[in-house]
Parts: sequence; C-alpha cells; structure tokens
Amino acid sequence: MTDPLRDADGGEALRRVYEAAGPYLSSLADRPVHDPDSQALLGQLWHPADGGALPERGEGAAAALDRLLRVGTAAATHSAGPRFFHFIIGGTTPAALAADWTAALLDQNAAFRASSRLASEVERIALTWLRELFGLPATYGGALVTSATFANVTGLAAATHWWGERHGVDVAADGLAGLPRMPVLSGGYLHPSDRKALQLLGHGRNTVEIHARDGAGRVDLVALDRRLAELAAPAVVIAIAGEVDTGDFDPLADLADIAERRGAWLHVDGAFGIFAALSPRTAGLVAGMERADSIAGDGHKWLNVPYESGFAFLKDPSRLPVAFGMPGAAYLPGEGSALPTPGEGADYALLGPDSSRRARSLPIWATLAAYGREGYRSMVERHLDLAQRLARRVDETPELERLAEVPLCIVCFRARPAGVPEAALDEVNRRLGAALLADGRVYAGTTVHDGRVALRPAIVNWRTTEADVDLLVDVVRELTAKVVAELG
Ligand SMILES: *Cc1c(COP(=O)(O)O)cnc(C)c1O
Repeated sequence: MTDPLRDADGGEALRRVYEAAGPYLSSLADRPVHDPDSQALLGQLWHPADGGALPERGEGAAAALDRLLRVGTAAATHSAGPRFFHFIIGGTTPAALAADWTAALLDQNAAFRASSRLASEVERIALTWLRELFGLPATYGGALVTSATFANVTGLAAATHWWGERHGVDVAADGLAGLPRMPVLSGGYLHPSDRKALQLLGHGRNTVEIHARDGAGRVDLVALDRRLAELAAPAVVIAIAGEVDTGDFDPLADLADIAERRGAWLHVDGAFGIFAALSPRTAGLVAGMERADSIAGDGHKWLNVPYESGFAFLKDPSRLPVAFGMPGAAYLPGEGSALPTPGEGADYALLGPDSSRRARSLPIWATLAAYGREGYRSMVERHLDLAQRLARRVDETPELERLAEVPLCIVCFRARPAGVPEAALDEVNRRLGAALLADGRVYAGTTVHDGRVALRPAIVNWRTTEADVDLLVDVVRELTAKVVAELG
C-alpha cells in the first residue's frame, strides 16, 4: 500500500491556487454572476476512473486541485463579484481573503487559549474593534460564531438562561421541563433565522407573538407594550435592525424604553443593519441598540469577509459561559476563567455554540487593520449612494414601481408594465425574478412585500459600481419586456 502523505509537500497545489486566483479575481468585474452552461462541469468532480466512486488510488494534490479550480472558477456563483444583488451577502476584501488563506495555513483551533493563544487573542482584538466600529459601550463582549443565525442562537440562548433564572431554574443544566412557555414578542420584520434560533433552543418557532400595525410589518409599539404589561412576567423582545425586503429598522430606542419599563430582555438582530452605525447619515437608525441585552451581526455580509463569520454581543458577557459552558469534562478548561484576559484572549468554546472552531477572527482582524474605520465608512456611504441612485433610476423608469423607502442599501421595487392588469403583476414579477437568475448577467431575487411580489436588490459588495447598478436596471427592463411578450 502506498502512503502518499508520507512525503507530501503541497507546495505545487498551493501554487495552482495562487496562480488561478489573480485571473479569477480580475474576471469578476466583467463576467456574468452565473453561467448556466457551466453547471454541466459539476459532473467532472466525480473521479473519472473507478466509475466516479471514491478513488482507490488518489491522483495527487496538484491534479486534484487543477480539477477543482477548473470546475470551480467556471461553475461557481460569482457572488464575490459586483453584480450579485441577491440575498444580502457581500464579497471578500483583498485583506480578508488573504487572511482567510492564512487561517487555513495556520490551522488554529480557536476553542481555547490552550489550543491557540494566537487565535484567542486575535478574536479578542477583532471583537473589540467590531464593538468600537459599531459604537457599542465597552461593557459589551461576545464571541464570533458561524452566522447571524447562530448569533441569534447565542443571544437568545443567553436570554433563555436569564429567563429561566427568573423562574428559579438553571436552564443550561436542567432544560425547559416544568417551565411555562417563554414569551417572545416582535414586530412583523422578524427574520426567519430568529424563529429558527427559537426552534433550536426548544421554544418552538411558533412561540413568537407578532405585533405589527400594517402589512409591511411595522411594529405596533402600543400593542407590544400592552401585551408585556398584561403578561406581567419575564419576556423577550426581538427587534430587527435592517429588515431584509426594504432595509427598514424597528424603532430600537422605543423598544429599549419598553423593554426597560417592563423588565424584558431586548435582543437586536442587526445582521447587516448594524453597519448603519458607520455613517452619520444612517447612525440614527441604530440609536438605542447600545441598550440591547444581546445583539446579532454578520461579518460575511457588509464587512465583506468570507462566510461563516457572524458575531454576537452581550451587554453582560458573563452570561455567555453560563449558557455555553461545558462543566465536568476534566480535560477542558473550566468556565470560571473563560472570559477574555488581555494578551491571552478567551476560551471562546465556552462563550458560544461551537466547540472546536477555525480562526475566523483572522479575516476580520486583517480587513479592519487594512482599511480602518474610515475605509468601512467610505464603503458603506458609497453603497448608500448607489442605493439612492438605483431608487432614482427605478423612479425614472415608467415600467418600474418602487414599493418602499430606501433607508439603507436595499431597493424594493417591481415591474409594472403598461397594459398589464394589477392581478397579473405578481406572475410577471415572479417570472422576471426567475428570468434574472437564469440570465445571470445580474443576480437579484424576489420576495413578497406587503402582499406584492417584488425584487429586492441589496448593495453590500465592496466591488459594486454605478455601472453595475445601471446594468441591473437595463437587464430588468429588457427581461420585463420579454416576460410580458411571452405572457401575450
Ligand atoms: C441575513 C440575516 C440573517 C441570517 O444570516 P445568516 O448569516 O445567513 O445566518 C439573520 N437576520 C437578518 C436580519 C439577516 O439579514
């Protein structure tokens, strides 16, 4: 039997990646977001010999990487490029990409100080800089997690523990048995991942009571406040900073007032909206966030770092080891000393849902070190300007109709071609959304906003320019005409 790893060096495989990177990155400005024809290449990832089965004898690192790069650079969704307006997901800054490679190079386990002092300390610095970037008070502390979904899990797990404590139960130790249902209240902007977090934590996704005052989902403060008074029991309020269809915000200061008055826990889901804090033009939208008990955010969105980069902040970080500690395993550090120490970092495995975890702090550290507060403020303001430009272009185009204000980086609109009856517009827009994704020159998805099918392009990629936004409008017009013609 051969053991190919006995003498492996890997330099050649790394060189292949490096050599492919430059041409790929410079192609992003011009190539379509998605090439439907390239998807047939995916079949080549099964091994050509052995009928596609797990290879008995491997082809070697350089050959495997050649194949992966050939297929990958063609068949990927080129969402790192400037015209991916679907979801809200950003790209990767040059510093973040290089640091992500470094994270793989060093292969640190960022679980404990004992597994990597380096990763633990870089995470402490990255979290401190993020806290400063968003203008949160110095008392806030947190952990890096894989996503905003898991940042919501983290904040709501701490909330659950707090709530159990109010009922005299240690939920981390004994679970929810015997407790009443945890009251959770929000407006209509609630993101599905908050429900997913509640479902993971054993509360059930249907536990949330929605208090909305209109079809768009604006929160009904009076009803929410009245309900908290009526409950007269510990409760959790979820506020959304940045709603996904329009980029609108719940009134965080009002919700903080209510939560304080009623003794409720306030969780703010600010996955991308938290970046409104970076510009004086939009900072008012997050006023009050600095009073939340827990805050969730995403690095892989507007920070433009690679995926699996979320973060959770707690007003009282000492709640994290209580909710996430793993006491009783003799080979692990105790939760008592898990919290951050200057020069050492923290035992982050005890402060969040992951145990072993990659050094996802490195790209965050590097991009903030490289571009600073000023760089990020400029990028956010450029995106705010681009969103206003897109809104203007939509308003100037007779067959397009804007459906919402544009407070941040998302423009919610639909096609409304002359002569098409209102009742047919949802079908036209659904087909338009499908046509955009099939076409691939620009990428944007549909939603249902206030009962109407609409597009909701989001601008959060550092590469996006005015020309990219203009092309979006041009392609939408072209495909609208095509869809209308097909429908006869
Ligand atoms: C994107 C988003 C999430 C979920 O983020 P993931 O990183 O995909 O888990 C949660 N809440 C809001 C408001 C979002 O925009």
